[in-house]
Amino acid sequence: MHLRLEQHLVAQLLQAANSCAPHEACGLLGGKQGQASHFIAIDNVAASPMHRYEMDSSQLVKAFFALERDNLELCAIWHTHPEGRPRPSPEDIRAAAWPDVCQLILGFVNGKAELAAWQVAPGGVKRVPLQIGNAVQDLAPEEESAGRNLAIWGSAALAILLALWLAISLLPPAPRIP
Ligand SMILES: [Zn+2]
Repeated sequence: MHLRLEQHLVAQLLQAANSCAPHEACGLLGGKQGQASHFIAIDNVAASPMHRYEMDSSQLVKAFFALERDNLELCAIWHTHPEGRPRPSPEDIRAAAWPDVCQLILGFVNGKAELAAWQVAPGGVKRVPLQIGNAVQDLAPEEESAGRNLAIWGSAALAILLALWLAISLLPPAPRIP
């Protein structure tokens, strides 16, 4: 499974996210053979739309008919996390009804947009390769990035040095040699 997005879809996703924030936005992407080219926004009718999404069922049915009419496949189901990483929430995993369809999530971490695609099945969650335009470009960094690992090791080394310094400074003075 993989997902390719035409470049203009990224702008449409960002626009939908901004116009719905702080609520989650949601919808579908249509296209052919894993290449998404058509953007469909659907109203989020969830009771708590800031933390989850539920697509309006009548709009969803209309969207499916439109894809059928235009001879397009359902390439992805997308939604936004206005204040969170683009990884499926426990609620997203619980509610996932289409394990064969890619789930695209647009998240915002410290105001910066991150995009990632997933396959969400009852057995687990798998990252799906995402390509934007012609470039292979996954906008979301891996959870444990090299920079973060370096920071963790750096602070561990500092803690060890501090402990050593404390141990040395607490040692009794060396006995005098007559
Ligand atoms: Zn979500």
